Amino acid sequence: MEYSEIMVRYGELSTKGKNKKDFIRQLGHNVKNALSQFEGLEVHAQHDRLHVTLNGADSTAVMDRLKGVFGIENFSPSVKTEKDLEAIKATVLAMAKEAYQPGMTFKINVRRQDKNFEYDTYQLNDILGGVVLHGVPGIQVKMKHPDLELRVEIRLNGVFVSGQTIQGAGGLPVGTGGKAVMMLSGGIDSPVASYYGMRRGVKLDMVHFFSPPYTSEQALAKAKELTAKLAKYSGSIQFIQVPFTKIQETIKEKVPEGYLMTIQRRMMLRLTVAVAEMRHAKGVFNGESLGQVASQTLESMAAINDVTSMPILRPLLSMDKTEIIKVAEDIDTYDLSILPYEDCCTIFTPPAPKTKPDLEKSRKYEKFIDVEGLMKEALDGITITEIRPGDNCLNQNEDVFAELL
Ligand code: ATP
Ligand code: MG
Repeated sequence: MEYSEIMVRYGELSTKGKNKKDFIRQLGHNVKNALSQFEGLEVHAQHDRLHVTLNGADSTAVMDRLKGVFGIENFSPSVKTEKDLEAIKATVLAMAKEAYQPGMTFKINVRRQDKNFEYDTYQLNDILGGVVLHGVPGIQVKMKHPDLELRVEIRLNGVFVSGQTIQGAGGLPVGTGGKAVMMLSGGIDSPVASYYGMRRGVKLDMVHFFSPPYTSEQALAKAKELTAKLAKYSGSIQFIQVPFTKIQETIKEKVPEGYLMTIQRRMMLRLTVAVAEMRHAKGVFNGESLGQVASQTLESMAAINDVTSMPILRPLLSMDKTEIIKVAEDIDTYDLSILPYEDCCTIFTPPAPKTKPDLEKSRKYEKFIDVEGLMKEALDGITITEIRPGDNCLNQNEDVFAELL
């Protein structure tokens, strides 16, 4: 079937009363961005629906992109016809014939926005049901859970017929929830946490700590590539890499072994908050999950959180690892995350980090290092890269990655 448009139904935002306008505007903007590669296509965000007029663009490719846009409940590829009964009948019949499989059940679902159309909903359901029943041998009517639901919308600007409803990504349009900074490692958890943050409408900048020569160029490229995967859900993402070598070396030299990890984490969080403040972001996201490792106990979180009053958001807090992995697979970050490049944290992790660090001791041992000086130096060494959806960040290391993937 040659579809003329994709009809997009809004998710949760339709219940948001006074913010509704902003939400629709943002979603329209995000959909336009996600579909910018398709020439000639038009996006119209209206108060109850969003319409993507294809003008010849490939509907399958367009729908593939729409699946990654938050704020969409579901969508239907549709055929626009004249507001004329014979034209509607012909389109409905053609769609039913194309979809037909032996034993299939169907129903017609008419909605009439244009109250001046000469037939009402009841009459149209009846007429069109008859057309399909007689025109497609073997098909049967079923009102509850039919295999095929043919939706016919009589609107002011035409009639739209669709036979498929495809689940959208849900959530809220990215940008409606403000801006935050995400602590992105190369691991499994933080990309999943990013996904959940974006899903609630938050625009994220990525902060990544790297420690050359202890961590490789590949580890850095991997974090960027993960960002490119996530950009599919939010549009371009700023990737902020923060040099962490000197801080780790200094901590290793000056701080008692049991507190290496806690002090490193406190420094990471301080730097992330500094970056967030510079960018007027209102919170910090990370991929922590309660009890997963030594740094993710309540005591540890308390000792690390101590350095800031900015909200720290942990979307994975109560998820099990198996659940997190399942989502990582769904959003296509898992295969990248398990590539074996050392993360800056693992290298300086002592064999037995304290699982219940003491807050006062953490504060005391941190005084052994020049917090302000080290922070300034790291912030001066920041590099920012704009990463677009689908960018190939592994290019420089293509051979190494080709072997592993
Ligand atoms: P992940 O799978 O996200 O790496 P993890 O289970 O390995 O998490 P940790 O290594 O303890 O757990 O890291 C906890 C969180 O700290 C991460 O989810 C991430 O948000 C942040 N983090 C860790 N390493 C880095 C890094 N190199 N750069 C930025 N953030 C980091
Ligand atoms: Mg990790």
